[in-house]
Amino acid sequence: MTVPFLDPGAAYAELRDDIDAAVHRVLTSGRYLLGPEIEAFEAEYAAYCGTRHCVAVGSGCDALELALRALDIGPGHEVIVPAHTFIATWLAVSATGAVPVAVEPDERTYNLDPARLTEAITPRTRAIIPVHLYGQPADLDAVQAVARRHGLAVVEDAAQAHGARYRGARIGTRTTATAFSFYPGKNLGALGDGGAVITDDEAVARRLRLLRNYGSTVKYRHEIKGTNSRLDEIQAAVLRVKLPLLDEWNARRAAVARRYLTECAGLPGVTMPYVAPWADPVWHLFVIRSARRDRLARRLAARGVGTLVHYPTPPHLSPAYAGSHPGEGSCPRAERISDEVLSLPMGPHLSEGHVDAVVAALHAAVREQADDPSDRRSAPTDGDPPDARAPASA
Ligand SMILES: *Cc1c(COP(=O)(O)O)cnc(C)c1O
Repeated sequence: MTVPFLDPGAAYAELRDDIDAAVHRVLTSGRYLLGPEIEAFEAEYAAYCGTRHCVAVGSGCDALELALRALDIGPGHEVIVPAHTFIATWLAVSATGAVPVAVEPDERTYNLDPARLTEAITPRTRAIIPVHLYGQPADLDAVQAVARRHGLAVVEDAAQAHGARYRGARIGTRTTATAFSFYPGKNLGALGDGGAVITDDEAVARRLRLLRNYGSTVKYRHEIKGTNSRLDEIQAAVLRVKLPLLDEWNARRAAVARRYLTECAGLPGVTMPYVAPWADPVWHLFVIRSARRDRLARRLAARGVGTLVHYPTPPHLSPAYAGSHPGEGSCPRAERISDEVLSLPMGPHLSEGHVDAVVAALHAAVREQADDPSDRRSAPTDGDPPDARAPASA
């Protein structure tokens, strides 16, 4: 059996009739932008998250950028971001004219390490963006304590964490603003690009509605220099079909995660994901760690199991930030993590048989790795858990 890393068509196959009907409804309505579907989706998603306002925009990257701009963050400012994240978190900051400042991840959660925040704060710092990477909630209490002490806004990047809970409360209910992506592969995915910001702050919501539509909510009256970033009616209608299933699909992800965690526990040289005591994760990705990651991925591929790396290059080492940011060695934890992480197949549409196949392949690949003398020669420290090799002070 082969197990693809992701099967993007599976969600549509399950919901085909409802999605077709929703799309048809929009096509025949004659309203394609800023119409009833957007209005209904915004109300439904705000209710799901437990916030007063939801403003839907063109993408997750735009959601982050516009949330920052709604808070008047721009040129001359700094925004603290995780060193280990998808580059969109950084690019959204750069797009406002502000400078992203990297903070190293925690070794176990891979999320921003709150203990490293204070040293990154300068007089120019305006906000912190914790990312709930892989669907695992970051430690918001610790982040907010630092933010309060220094008068900073907290804008969450929840692009991978729809429905996740922190200490029992949904992500997005305790900070200034929270950005989501509806990219097709996300836990709540459209059939194209999309994003949203949720907030309890009336003024922030109003600014966002202006920013996404040329600075205007009344035709041809332009209050601020906005842009064009709107979720279209077709995508909103598709998301309205999927939203009622989000909790069930997240539960299906959690069931896959439980099987991986129990059936692959204790494999030598493999670190399984850590779930923090405050976290109800939504398993956007299931990420393991191995000092021999690339070999492990090849061995899994040879057994028909697709994997991906999230992410192979930390933003500060990508060409986009070369020259403007400290390079190699400046974020050693993030750099080491990016060399060692490997994402196993994960999603609501993996069958029991698929999971059986992944578990068997991982066991076999690890066994083969242990038996291969060339492996040992080429990587003498391999086999140690990554935490054991990390300097205690790092
Ligand atoms: C997907 C993602 C984004 C960007 O969302 P888009 O809709 O693709 O623009 C931002 N941050 C993180 C962590 C993401 O995973």
